[in-house]
Amino acid sequence: MKIISDPKKMFLYSSSLRKRGYKIGFVPTMGALHEGHTSLIRIAKKYCDKVIVSIFVNPIQFGPKEDYKRYPRNIKKDIQILKKEKVDVLFYPTVKQMFSKDFSTFVEVDGKFCLSKKLCGISRPGHFRGVATIVLKLFNIVFPDIAVFGQKDYQQQLIIKKMVKDLNLNVKIITGSIVREKDGLAKSSRNSYLSKEQRLQAPILYQSLLLAKKMVIDGEKDASKIIAKAKKFILQNSSFKIDYFSIVNPKTLENIKKVNRPVLIAVAAYLGKTRLIDNLVV
Ligand code: AMP
Repeated sequence: MKIISDPKKMFLYSSSLRKRGYKIGFVPTMGALHEGHTSLIRIAKKYCDKVIVSIFVNPIQFGPKEDYKRYPRNIKKDIQILKKEKVDVLFYPTVKQMFSKDFSTFVEVDGKFCLSKKLCGISRPGHFRGVATIVLKLFNIVFPDIAVFGQKDYQQQLIIKKMVKDLNLNVKIITGSIVREKDGLAKSSRNSYLSKEQRLQAPILYQSLLLAKKMVIDGEKDASKIIAKAKKFILQNSSFKIDYFSIVNPKTLENIKKVNRPVLIAVAAYLGKTRLIDNLVV
């Protein structure tokens, strides 16, 4: 596996692959890799000749009180995982290489439906601006034919798809489904923050989504009743502090009152200092 840290070298190498007729698949990550990430790599492999993975903990998508500094970093183990997955190139730039001191251009995906200001965007202002900006930069450096994102970050993949459409980017976005632990907890690099006791409580989040899904399938149409029951379930069975539990239109993220078409049920909650998210499309 080739490891490249210089963005210019990455661009030149990627261009040379394209010139040789290879189709390039790209999986952007922040590292601390797990089976959620490798599932996306396998999707990229299926559609492409060469797979490039980036590892970059992007400072501009973290708020001032968030976990940028303590975000798990384990490059040695990550390299082992990527080699095992037969990834062709790891793009591993430093913050200095990606952001010059006078960096001043940002991408905002907002508009009519305010996609970046709903759900996670409410408690994480500026987060999706940071995400869209880094993803556009990575796309310009790697120049992939296909990029794979996870449904785990549903709002993120929706915003990226919107950016690609609005800015006429020549890349196809594929969304991979959520990979879970045996007990249902969505795999996440942040799960490593959890204490033993918190880890035991963490699957409650997924269970609350399943409870909501069952209510929908059983015919409950009133979103507020479903939300109230799911929230009560979380609070009675764990020490989670709920950020949001929402039932929204999967395309616009607008709140839905009557459930009579496909919906996204999404939850974000804090277990101690750790913020976990999960979702289901029903
Ligand atoms: P991250 O390293 O957390 O920024 O995630 C990199 C990519 O992996 C994003 O597209 C995430 O949505 C995706 N991802 C993270 N966790 C999972 C999971 N449990 N299942 C599927 N994809 C995931």
